[in-house]
Amino acid sequence: MIEFDHVHKHFGRQVVIDDLSLRIESGEFFVLVGPSGSGKSTLLRTVNRLVPVDAGQVRIDGEDVVTRDAETLRRGIGYAIQSVGLFPHRTVAENIATVPRLLHWPPHEIRARTAELLALLHLDEPGMGSRYPHTLSGGQQQRVGVARALAARPRIVLMDEPFGALDPLTRESLQASLKAIQRDTGTTILFVTHDMDEAFGLGDRVGLMLDGGLVQVGSPLDLLHAPADDRVRDFVGGTR
Ligand code: ATP
Ligand code: MG
Repeated sequence: MIEFDHVHKHFGRQVVIDDLSLRIESGEFFVLVGPSGSGKSTLLRTVNRLVPVDAGQVRIDGEDVVTRDAETLRRGIGYAIQSVGLFPHRTVAENIATVPRLLHWPPHEIRARTAELLALLHLDEPGMGSRYPHTLSGGQQQRVGVARALAARPRIVLMDEPFGALDPLTRESLQASLKAIQRDTGTTILFVTHDMDEAFGLGDRVGLMLDGGLVQVGSPLDLLHAPADDRVRDFVGGTR
């Protein structure tokens, strides 16, 4: 369970998160949508403390994230972003194994998990594991980033537009894989996207963020058929 409790964040004089409260249940797939600059990535990054909050609390299973050592906290939370951030001097397999290695998994388990993830994310061309990131397409790199985020089977995964650079078919297939993994493992996922179809397809609940606040949180059908106000109607309608 992730709880945001009256969270505030500003950069300089700009308020980026404005008294935001939200509770994401364990095992929930929660999708955050909203226009560029509304604060989605910032909110996501408060969970693993890449962004410290100015006021309020972010809690995981009731425990304020500031009470945890940042390194330990981040090892326990998967994080995948659109710009990927793979380690360029490490192979695909080494990138995927980053957190399991830090957690001292036995080598045979790391190998098995890496092979499993390569298959799940359709990265099963022969020799893929020993290639370096610069030899991969953007979409392949993105999938390695997702595999790395999932590798140690974290209970919480933060995903910031992880499928942005993928063609529609690959994207659909990965959405299905991710949803299946999430259902099977009960992982709590907080997922950011600009794509309403993706949000509605994946989310148990969807939250629309505008100007640092949540204007509506509900099931995809709620947002579609019972928008809280014109801003929700425009956003949901305008991007479909
Ligand atoms: P996008 O959909 O474009 O990714 P977003 O909803 O993720 O947008 P954020 O990245 O959270 O938006 O940014 C929210 C606002 O905070 C923006 O105006 C951005 O310029 C500002 N901001 C984010 N990070 C910083 C930072 N480190 N320093 C200063 N301003 C920042
Ligand atoms: Mg963002």
